[in-house]
Amino acid sequence: MIGCTCDVCRSSDPHDRRLRPSIYLDVDNGPAILVDTSTDLRQQALAHDLRRLDAIVMTHNHADHVMGLDEVRRFNVLMGGEIPLWASAATGRELRRIFQYVFEPPQHVGGGIPQISLREIDGEFTVGALAVRPVPLLHGRLPILGFRFGTFAYLTDASSIPAASWPLLDGVDVLIINALRHRPHPTHFSLAEAVAVAERIGARQTWFTHICHDLPHAATNRALPAGMALAHDGLTFTVEVG
Ligand SMILES: [Zn+2]
Ligand SMILES: [Zn+2]
Ligand SMILES: [Zn+2]
Repeated sequence: MIGCTCDVCRSSDPHDRRLRPSIYLDVDNGPAILVDTSTDLRQQALAHDLRRLDAIVMTHNHADHVMGLDEVRRFNVLMGGEIPLWASAATGRELRRIFQYVFEPPQHVGGGIPQISLREIDGEFTVGALAVRPVPLLHGRLPILGFRFGTFAYLTDASSIPAASWPLLDGVDVLIINALRHRPHPTHFSLAEAVAVAERIGARQTWFTHICHDLPHAATNRALPAGMALAHDGLTFTVEVG
């Protein structure tokens, strides 16, 4: 946090340095997919040497999840064309408003504009041969989407899971779910709430993301149940996506 002198913000443990939440799914012999274009996308793409991008899927339109959209320009060059971006109808409307210069470009422009084809999520969809299942979540009162790829689910910015979404999470083996801090928050799961949801989902491995500076990495992990841990920037693992 800017200007903060707390133990986590001043920690020498690199696991305590957290950029905005996003994941990159690189499917063997399949597409490379980015979930959200975080404010820090440029730094993250450079740090992890991302060279390919076949599609973007958006959880919701909050600034920390979308403000890196302009960086897609570089992937247009690398991939030789526009990049499809999948979003709910509501998120798509907000993206058109926030990024008017992208979706309604002016006639005479200097400099590049990301080339994006906006696709509306209306149930399960495919990117190449990969099936992507949207999982409706609530972020306070805002409906947002988590995503399931095979036995892996990525659920961020949730504060509750609607009854109809629980069956969509049956059989999840690896889970990423948001856990902000210990104290309750109106629009994000606390750590205790996220642990309870993770126990109900029953994944073999659960990672917590979207963590604020209230949670020191090492000390928090020591207190978590087996098979659950805080995620960290640069974390990589393998999942079965079918
Ligand atoms: Zn701090
Ligand atoms: Zn949000
Ligand atoms: Zn967020």
